[in-house]
Amino acid sequence: MVKSLSENEEFDVIIAGGGPSGLNTAIMCATRNLKVLLLERNKMGGLLATLYPNRIIPNYPSFPKGIVA
Ligand SMILES: Cc1cc2nc3c(=O)[nH]c(=O)nc-3n(C[C@H](O)[C@H](O)[C@H](O)COP(=O)(O)OP(=O)(O)OC[C@H]3O[C@@H](n4cnc5c(N)ncnc54)[C@H](O)[C@@H]3O)c2cc1C
Repeated sequence: MVKSLSENEEFDVIIAGGGPSGLNTAIMCATRNLKVLLLERNKMGGLLATLYPNRIIPNYPSFPKGIVA
């Protein structure tokens, strides 16, 4: 979710980078009721979102048939 921030808004966790590491960290923190700010300077999804022209990642962990990015 993209939203504007108020000047004095506070967070429990601030994550730089919306790749797999940052996204998973954000999910884990949010499920533990921590208030998270995730900052991404380019495109959400990180390197994997830009690597494959056909957008299919053939070996993403836990998805034996691959995933569509
Ligand atoms: C050629 C190649 C093929 C690969 N193929 C596969 C594959 O098939 N399956 C697989 O599971 N893995 C694959 N990988 C590995 C996979 O790309 C990485 O393991 C994964 O992208 C790492 O995720 P990450 O979140 O740590 O980093 P990244 O994906 O690099 O994400 C980092 C994010 O942080 C952002 N960022 C950086 N600095 C800042 C900043 N100062 N402020 C805000 N945002 C910032 C970047 O824009 C980026 O979106 C491949 C890697 C390569 C190089």
